[in-house]
Amino acid sequence: MSEHSESANAFRDGSSFRPYEILLKAGLRPTRQRLDLVGLIFGAPGRHLTAKELYQLAREAGMGVSLATVYNTLHQFSDAAIIKRIPVDRGVVYFDADVNAHHHFYVDGEDRIIDIDSNSISFLRFPELPDGCTVAGVEVVIHLRRRIRDNAASAAHDSVN
Ligand SMILES: [Zn+2]
Repeated sequence: MSEHSESANAFRDGSSFRPYEILLKAGLRPTRQRLDLVGLIFGAPGRHLTAKELYQLAREAGMGVSLATVYNTLHQFSDAAIIKRIPVDRGVVYFDADVNAHHHFYVDGEDRIIDIDSNSISFLRFPELPDGCTVAGVEVVIHLRRRIRDNAASAAHDSVN
């Protein structure tokens, strides 16, 4: 696993990817396991992972880590704002290496999440805010489904379900 992959270099203000510093800054002890998991998250294509996907990557990388540990670590990371938790659907939660505000497409039935540039969505109308509240951020998940025409090919491909 490289600590200097292309995607990881896009992390925070274009600075290079330093898992050790990231953990220290977040107040988390940089254990080998945390360093490895941070590396896997930021090195993953698209950098959106569910706990199960990260668990699989960790096993493939030869880490002797349990799914429960992966869950706990992901929640520690998101509590520390190293990554962002994105609940999309029916208990499906993604963890995003990009903590900046941005939007997502989610392809229902394919468990696929795709970034949307934050400048490509604007709001014409906004609801009145509840008393005592201010907007902390607006993040949209646009749910997609395959058009009927494409369904046959997609169903043949994902016939496991
Ligand atoms: Zn994202």
